[in-house]
Amino acid sequence: MVTFEVSHEFHSVPFHKTSADTIPFSGSDQVLELASVAPFGFDGRMATGCYDAVIVGGGPGGSTAATYLARAGKRVLVLEKEHFPRFHIGESLLPYNQRIFKEMGVLPELEAAGFAKKFGAQFHLGNASKALKLVFSNGCYTREAMAFQVERAKFDQILLQHARKSGAEVREGWTVTRFSRETDGVAVTARDEAGNTETFKGAFLIDASGRANLTGNQENLRVGHPRLKKLALFGHFEGVGLDSGPTATDIIIVRLPDKWFWLIPLSSTRTSVGCVMDQADFSKAGLTPAEMFRSCWQSSTELRSRLGMATALMPIQTTGDFSYHNRRLVGPRLLRVGDAAGFMDPIFSAGVYLAMDSGRLAAVAVGKSLKAGDDGRRRLARYERRVFAAMGLYWEMVEAFYTQPFMDIFMQPRPKFKVPDAIVALLAGELEGGWKLTWRRRLFFLFVKAQSRWPLVPRLWPGEGRVLNPKAAASPAVAK
Ligand SMILES: Cc1cc2nc3c(=O)[nH]c(=O)nc-3n(C[C@H](O)[C@H](O)[C@H](O)COP(=O)(O)OP(=O)(O)OC[C@H]3O[C@@H](n4cnc5c(N)ncnc54)[C@H](O)[C@@H]3O)c2cc1C
Repeated sequence: MVTFEVSHEFHSVPFHKTSADTIPFSGSDQVLELASVAPFGFDGRMATGCYDAVIVGGGPGGSTAATYLARAGKRVLVLEKEHFPRFHIGESLLPYNQRIFKEMGVLPELEAAGFAKKFGAQFHLGNASKALKLVFSNGCYTREAMAFQVERAKFDQILLQHARKSGAEVREGWTVTRFSRETDGVAVTARDEAGNTETFKGAFLIDASGRANLTGNQENLRVGHPRLKKLALFGHFEGVGLDSGPTATDIIIVRLPDKWFWLIPLSSTRTSVGCVMDQADFSKAGLTPAEMFRSCWQSSTELRSRLGMATALMPIQTTGDFSYHNRRLVGPRLLRVGDAAGFMDPIFSAGVYLAMDSGRLAAVAVGKSLKAGDDGRRRLARYERRVFAAMGLYWEMVEAFYTQPFMDIFMQPRPKFKVPDAIVALLAGELEGGWKLTWRRRLFFLFVKAQSRWPLVPRLWPGEGRVLNPKAAASPAVAK
């Protein structure tokens, strides 16, 4: 049996710092205050042609920050290296995303786009011996019950377009190559597709460059997770075996001993399917991505029943999936949001939500600093604490997910002290539930710890999942 270890040292600093302050949603004083800040609120010492904020990257994190600031009358520039729509992985959102959509004013457009609606999440063992079906609305601490599952090309384009409509200047096809600090602001150097280089200045810089991690790399702040060196293989499929009825659009996670699969229904005919595995195992196997992908799902009873009749709609793609965070999320007049702050294994689908949540918080910190006419040092420090705290909640879950005791307790919830409800709330995106959620989460991890020594629930075995004869398993068939 494979055993898993939990890293205690990695996430202990700085993720477990907590912050008491909260920024409530719609109607909140702080967000409304941001909306009332006069345009060009920076103290005017910047030369003409300077922006209140320059944002690198037009993904969900960048678009969110841009929308909030532009709606507050700020002069915002977004530099995005691609032209949208463009493919992006990361398709299952969390229910609490809805609040941000509402506040940004983009919800009607997203509803009109007809994205699939997810009401729950399912976790299955690869050998089909156990399944856990979570319904968001059943959790007594969960205040949002539905999330979209999206094709990111379309979703990201709607968000970026919304930022533009809100008043942000968006330049697509511009790659930022570096940033530098000025006396009262930040400058970035960017190159267009014709090779022309220009410098843009802003009172603040928001790095939303995703896993490209522009400023974190430039400042050498990136800390890779010592063990979560993963790789993802994925594609879109037709004919995947899903439930019928209200759970038909659930995200399905299938856990094999040393890897896991996602099945994300995007429409009635298109399902995103992906496998996250150790990069080293992929390299060792010497298979093509399509061969590896096929041999992995064929090794599982649960996946054979779901993918046996599926047809690939695109070639299997790969992407590195290394978890990391930056040691600092802020610097003088600089804030990192979303994946540019840190990226974690996507098992709990929190990436887009955390990117948008941090984009929103970054906009609030910048908006208030512009209003005060200062560099916002204390607000940026508070921003950093809040974002580390939010990331830390999911990191703890992600690291534990690869351990046997976590799977035992997680897959066999006991309705004691409403602990499972607190976990469901977190999986829906509840970051501000206060002490009543915190102590239940701590108790959950105490159960996990105890399980490793004195089993509280029967030990599970995800079973199967080993590629015994990769070449044979990789022979051509329907779902490549
Ligand atoms: C395999 C996998 C599966 C995932 N599944 C999920 C999921 O189901 N649900 C979920 O919520 N999350 C998921 N994620 C995570 C999710 O994709 C990210 O967390 C999310 O996209 C982060 O948003 P962002 O705005 O920070 O970055 P991004 O969405 O990556 O946007 C960054 C943007 O910056 C641009 N850019 C980069 N460098 C530069 C530069 N130098 N100059 C100008 N522009 C630049 C890029 O072109 C890009 O458009 C997954 C990730 C992976 C790898």
